[in-house]
Order: sequence, then C-alpha cells, then structure tokens
Amino acid sequence: MKKIGLYLFTNDLRINDNTLLHQASQLVDELLCIVVEPRLSTYSVRLSQEQENGAHRHLFIEQAIDDLALSLARLGQRLFVLERNTSEDLVQLVKSQQVTHFFASSHCAHGERQLIKDTLTQCPGLFLSQQHHTTLFESDAFPFELTKLPRSFTKFRLQVERLEINTEGSVIAYLPPAPQTATYPYRKPILEPEVSDTVDYVGGETAGLIHLENYFSNDYAGTYKQTRNALDGIENSTKFSPWLALGCVSPTTIYRHLKQFEAHRGANDSTYWIYFELLWREYFYWKCLTLGTSLFGRFSNDLPNEHSLDTTSGSSFVNWKSGNTNYPIVDACMRQLNATGYMSNRGRQLVASCLIHELGIDWRHGAAYFESQLIDYDVASNWGNWAYIAGALNSQAAQNANKQNAANQSQSKSRHFDLVKQTEMYDPEHAFINKWHRDDKASASILYQDVI
Ligand SMILES: Cc1cc2nc3c(=O)[nH]c(=O)nc-3n(C[C@H](O)[C@H](O)[C@H](O)COP(=O)(O)OP(=O)(O)OC[C@H]3O[C@@H](n4cnc5c(N)ncnc54)[C@H](O)[C@@H]3O)c2cc1C
Repeated sequence: MKKIGLYLFTNDLRINDNTLLHQASQLVDELLCIVVEPRLSTYSVRLSQEQENGAHRHLFIEQAIDDLALSLARLGQRLFVLERNTSEDLVQLVKSQQVTHFFASSHCAHGERQLIKDTLTQCPGLFLSQQHHTTLFESDAFPFELTKLPRSFTKFRLQVERLEINTEGSVIAYLPPAPQTATYPYRKPILEPEVSDTVDYVGGETAGLIHLENYFSNDYAGTYKQTRNALDGIENSTKFSPWLALGCVSPTTIYRHLKQFEAHRGANDSTYWIYFELLWREYFYWKCLTLGTSLFGRFSNDLPNEHSLDTTSGSSFVNWKSGNTNYPIVDACMRQLNATGYMSNRGRQLVASCLIHELGIDWRHGAAYFESQLIDYDVASNWGNWAYIAGALNSQAAQNANKQNAANQSQSKSRHFDLVKQTEMYDPEHAFINKWHRDDKASASILYQDVI
C-alpha cells in the first residue's frame, strides 16, 4: 500500500535542520506539505481590540511562507495553505488524499496541540510523528519529569545548561512528490523574495540564515552582554527572535554558530550570555506546555470581552497602544513597535510595567496587543514574559482560575520599573526618545540606515 504523508508546518517554517521533515522524506512515497497561516485568536482579538495581525507581523509571516514555498519548489514540492486553523480542513484533506502518515511539530501551545488531537480523533489509524524540534532540548533529555518542571528560571537553567545539544543538523536533498490528485487551491504564485545581504527584517529561512551569518561574522557576540540592553541598534542584541519565532532558523543552528564563534574568536561572558538568553526562551517554552491555557490567564469564568475595560482604562489602553501615554520612554518604544514590528527586551519590560502599574490595566490586554504586532511573536515567550512581569506566571491562584486571588498575587510578585531611572540608564541623552518622536514613517525607514 502506498504511504501518503501530510507534513503540517506551524512554528517550523524551514527546510534546514528539520529532522521531522527529513524523517518524512525517508518514510513516505508521496507527501502533502501544508501550512496554516497564523491568525490572531478570537481571545486576542477581544483583548487587544485589534481585528487582525498588524501589517509588519503579517508581512513577515507572508515572506516566511513564500520563502518556504520556494525552497519546497526547488525540491519539486508544493506548499498548500490552509487559511483556517481548524481540524475540519485537515480532516477533509486527510480523508480525500488517503493520508496514512501525519507529521507535525510538537507545539507547546494549547491551541495547536488541540488541532492535532482533534484531527487524530476524527482520523483513527493515522500514523502520527511529532518532535519538539524548535527547542534546544527534547524533554526526555531533562533530569526531571515535565510535570515537575522547576518553577523558577534559575532552577531550570542549573539543571539543563550542561546537557548535551545535538548540533549535527539535517540537510534535505530529496522530498517525495505531492500526490497527483492534490488539488487544494494553491495560495498564490511563488515570487522570488527580495533578500538583501544587509541585515533586515525579511521573513523566511533564507533571510534568517543570512542574518545569522552576518551577526557572527562581526564581533557583536563578543560584547553582547554589555550591549544587549540597548533600546535600539542592530549591533546590540542578536535580533534572532523573529526567525526563531516562526522556526525559520532553529535554536540548534544558532547554538552551532555560537560554538563556532567561540572556537575561532574565544568564549567569554558575552558568548555564554547568548546561550543564557536562549535558555530563557527554552524555559518559557516548557512552561507554556505544562501550564496549558492558564498561561494566558484564561479562566473559565473570566473571559474578558471588549467591554472589560472601563472608559478611563479603555482610553489609556488606546493611548498606550499608539505611544501617547506621556511617559516619553514608553511612547518611544511603542512607536518603534508600531513602525517596525520589533521592540528591544528592555523596552518590552518598560512598556509592560507601565501598562500594569502606571495605567492599572490588566496585563492580558498588553500581551494580546503584542501578539498582534510583534514580528517575533512567540506564544510561550510573549505570554510567559507578560505573566512573569505581572507576577502571574507561577501564581497558584492563576492556575486555579480565581481572578481576585490572581490579582492579589500579581500585586505581590510583579516587576515594577522606575521609568525615570530606566530612562537615565538606557537613554540618558534622549537620543532614542527623540528619534521615535519624529514622524513614524520617516523613523521606520531610517532604523537600519542609522546603524549599518
Ligand atoms: C513583555 C515581553 C514580551 C515578550 N514577547 C516576546 C515574543 O513574543 N517573542 C520572543 O521571541 N520574545 C519575547 N520576549 C523576550 C525578548 O524581549 C525577546 O526575545 C528579545 O527582545 C528579542 O530580541 P533579540 O533576538 O535581539 O534578543 P537577544 O537579547 O539577542 O536574545 C537572544 C535570544 O534569546 C531569547 N530571549 C532573550 N530574552 C528572552 C526572554 N526574556 N524570554 C524568552 N526568550 C528570550 C530570544 O529567542 C532571543 O532571540 C518578550 C519579553 C517581554 C518582556
């Protein structure tokens, strides 16, 4: 009997270092390659009060999908796009194409896991192959059960940071063809994406790998620890996050480049610190997997709707989103986000702290707005960091679905930044503030010319 595979691309939009795709290429006679375009969830539409993903995030995703389609075409394959994130369309495809093998990244997010579960329930007998291949580690390498995941980052880091990481990486030279009968409407003609050899936020594996090469061919990694907190500047933090978020570049590929950099130019505190930050990403990934929907502060009796903000906090939220709070450092960061789809880690901490403490708005509204705008939006890192700043990440109350307790708990453990002091530390000359108080469009276009 012919083996027909379906590969579902989600947070792994790449060909290189994709062990699951490699496995599919070895196992089946024909292969359907499917991608589900990420949409803003109904929950986040309500909380963010945005109808859909922002323009920068949307474009970055489109570019990443185009690039994947092009790479697959070079291997004689085709990429089919499902516009709805529901099991109905998947089930229909599995049945009509008589799919026998199903390959999908083991996602940490509840929604994506449910999609696979629902598809399998309706297609019994389907062979499922899954891997956590957007992380540095597989969970079976951990010296603890996932149910006993350490509560704090430090405890997690100390137990995992010396584990071996497989840096071999797989290369795919061949893919089985798509079934002849596959007639699911193709999204649009594949266009050669415009990828320059300068650093830029262009979506896709091709641009991501160019960025990685550029970053490590300079000396930036050797001074990362001193520069990572800067509010701006491509030479400061790595800017790997946009490509990591969609899986255009895998963390193990980054780790391999980091080790090569250390071998040629020497290891120091800064090179270690890049690994340290990747471990934060890892921590939030596994935290998201174990927390399920409670990561989103999503309680069965507590689904906020568009009326959950009263008039005062409603207009504060609108001002926060557009960068008009009158806290100059916060406004500059929010304008940078709106103009580019990116914001520094320091900036994210400051605007989150402002939303929660200065404006008194429920953190979930801020998290959902970030979800709609960030080109590096990652479910675990975004909702995990917001919950962490709000003091809700490890809150038993949050997990037990009790809003009042959760609010009390978050008061006691949340992180509150002094915006004046932070401005003195990170923007003493107000260069960043002045830059983003110019016309947004003009500012966006000079972002990179300034620093290259
Ligand atoms: C409120 C808030 C929301 C955030 N939302 C996201 C998000 O949606 N997607 C996202 O990738 N990161 C998110 N972060 C984490 C962090 O801000 C970004 O990963 C970082 O700014 C990306 O820039 P970089 O690649 O230059 O980071 P670098 O400083 O160069 O770090 C290297 C890599 O380590 C990882 N990393 C660094 N810091 C963190 C962190 N605190 N948590 C998790 N991973 C980290 C990222 O993968 C990053 O690319 C958020 C942080 C905060 C405070």
